[in-house]
Amino acid sequence: MGYSADVIIIGAGIGGLTAAALLQERGFSTITLEKNAVPGGSCAAFKRGGYTFDAGASVFYGFSDDDRNGSLNLHSRLFRRLGVDVPVIADPVQIHYHLPDDIDVPVYYDQERFLRSLAERFPGEEEGIREFYRELEEVYEILSSLPAGSLEDPVHVLSVGRQYPSLVFALALKTFRSMGKTARRTIRDRKLLRFIDMEAYSWAVQDAVSTPLVNAGICLADRHHGGIHYPVGGAGAIPDALCRGIRKFGGQVHFRREVTEILVRRGKAEGVRLADGELLTSRAVVTNATVWDTCNRLLRDSRYHIPDDKYLRAPSWFQMYLGVDASVIPDGFNVHHIFVDDWADYSMPGGTIYFSAPSILDPSVAPEGKHVIHAFVTDETSRWQQLRRGDREYEKAKKKLADELITRTEALLPGLRDAVELEVLASPLTHERYLNRYKGTYGPLLYPGQNVLQKPQNRTPVRNLYAAGDSTFPGQGVIAVTYSGVSCASYIARKLGNPLEYL
Ligand SMILES: Cc1cc2nc3c(=O)[nH]c(=O)nc-3n(C[C@H](O)[C@H](O)[C@H](O)COP(=O)(O)OP(=O)(O)OC[C@H]3O[C@@H](n4cnc5c(N)ncnc54)[C@H](O)[C@@H]3O)c2cc1C
Repeated sequence: MGYSADVIIIGAGIGGLTAAALLQERGFSTITLEKNAVPGGSCAAFKRGGYTFDAGASVFYGFSDDDRNGSLNLHSRLFRRLGVDVPVIADPVQIHYHLPDDIDVPVYYDQERFLRSLAERFPGEEEGIREFYRELEEVYEILSSLPAGSLEDPVHVLSVGRQYPSLVFALALKTFRSMGKTARRTIRDRKLLRFIDMEAYSWAVQDAVSTPLVNAGICLADRHHGGIHYPVGGAGAIPDALCRGIRKFGGQVHFRREVTEILVRRGKAEGVRLADGELLTSRAVVTNATVWDTCNRLLRDSRYHIPDDKYLRAPSWFQMYLGVDASVIPDGFNVHHIFVDDWADYSMPGGTIYFSAPSILDPSVAPEGKHVIHAFVTDETSRWQQLRRGDREYEKAKKKLADELITRTEALLPGLRDAVELEVLASPLTHERYLNRYKGTYGPLLYPGQNVLQKPQNRTPVRNLYAAGDSTFPGQGVIAVTYSGVSCASYIARKLGNPLEYL
């Protein structure tokens, strides 16, 4: 049978593009199909009025250049393999927290400085703080010693197990532990435990008890090793570089090409149908869509459908993109902030404000004398369902929520309202429509108490159909979906007879 390509990838998010790039570099032909006009999904960028806005992600891990300084620098390794340059700027602070109970703590790259500033706020807990963050370091040490590969690939698992038996055993034990329960072993102060909850919530949108220790070990330790970086020109530089890598090795990436169906015959994926009716065939298909969209929309056979609650669905987002006069941001202001007014509703829609102003680091993303701001809160499509896009009521609802957010943000940046020169607003309906994400979700989460290894991996119930992205292990976040793309590509490459070399 003549195939259109060895592997077809549905979606040019970071998970899909990473899988495509590594497979293409290994000599497999790939076609990536993206419904939007630009790559990147939640890690895309868009331009308005001279400003470049990050559609979603702005805090990036994995770009350290120093292999000795933590080997979780997966992005550096990936781009080195592809021979594609992605210039980045180091950020000395991951996030600056502004929380109730006078908790005002910047998370410095310098871990000692961060721990000291936390201990200054909670002097009686210094020992417990140090012990908890040491636990995270231990996880990090293990993870940074193991090569990235597919946990479903017995050859990879056996080879890693043989080479690093004690590390693998120690890691396996840690997969049963939660970040919050680990913190409670060494920390008593309830306000400090709230801070630890926020450390989890900031990227996992779950409290610390629901967050696996292993995932925390990556996010909360690597920031002090590999550090946080920002790609010059904005988040879109990352997917653009992946597309360059794919094309450099002869792969195809097509935009405005939406897949409407995964073709399955006798339990095997054979290709895809596009919105215009065209059929493309392949030896393997990778879906970068969410697990709900893959199972309940792209797979037509009801035997593959899943109930809504098979996975815990993370909320969606309300996002506010602002172009502002630069004078509103004082000198020395950090790039990323999280603020909460009241602990009672930090995890409710709108309770926690995430704020980034990346033009502080990279002035090229704003016109001279201006800054870009991206502020966002969790939200749910159910709160917007009765409204129609483009209607006055919908615009009014967006404007009302944005005004509230600006008022709250003025506690941090007085005069913000008057400094706004451009405003773009996106509701959960935007998120759902733009990214084809079921209910605009941030993706599936683990139910409290579940082991991190219970997260779906890259294989699916359909043979030759694989998944990459935040619906798969290890989960949400750009570095996480890059990992998922690497493990997906390595599984497929071995299956198709030409295994990848470790990054
Ligand atoms: C507001 C926000 C802020 C964030 N901040 C950060 C951060 O600071 N740091 C961080 O590391 N992470 C952050 N994240 C998370 C991170 O961006 C995501 O976890 C990650 O980018 C998801 O990548 P993905 O490949 O799984 O999927 P997506 O980004 O959703 O990409 C999937 C792609 O597939 C396309 N697609 C879907 N269905 C089809 C179809 N049928 N046919 C064709 N194309 C299709 C979509 O259009 C999309 O382009 C943030 C996310 C959001 C929403």
